[in-house]
Amino acid sequence: MAIRPIITVPDPFLKTVSEPVGKVDDALRALMDDMLETMYDAPGIGLAAIQVGVPRRVIVMDIAGQDDEPEPRYFVNPVIEWASEDLAVYNEGCLSVPEHYAEIERPARCHVRHLDYDGTEQLLEADGLLATCIQHEMDHLEGILFIDYLSSLKRNMIVKKVAKADRVSA
Ligand code: ZN
Repeated sequence: MAIRPIITVPDPFLKTVSEPVGKVDDALRALMDDMLETMYDAPGIGLAAIQVGVPRRVIVMDIAGQDDEPEPRYFVNPVIEWASEDLAVYNEGCLSVPEHYAEIERPARCHVRHLDYDGTEQLLEADGLLATCIQHEMDHLEGILFIDYLSSLKRNMIVKKVAKADRVSA
């Protein structure tokens, strides 16, 4: 396993629409292992492949608390089959938009069909933080970031600050 560099705004690669995965094989599992290690190291609770520069429909997540046992989750080719009409608001952050947070409204519950680490089809019935997180990560597969839901004024301000911080630390 290896930690991979995480792409941050304003890198235009984050706007790429990711391609479906043909087959869950050892090469894909190696990518998922790297993504999980990268996510834990950051630390974060979710990571899409595009954030490490791989435009494939792959997501890793772990929303377990810091004092709880790790609970890694893997999503390959996820599709939202159902989303509730009722909405929930979370203060979201993103490893590609470091140090910035904003309240984003999304469906409170959703059902997500996907393949798991072994390539077996699964249906996730999510609510709470899990529902928000999987929708945030699935947005990445379409090239969408949580800051895209904000006003352009607010979004541009955040992108500028991240770009500036990057230059200082690089
Ligand atoms: Zn994100």
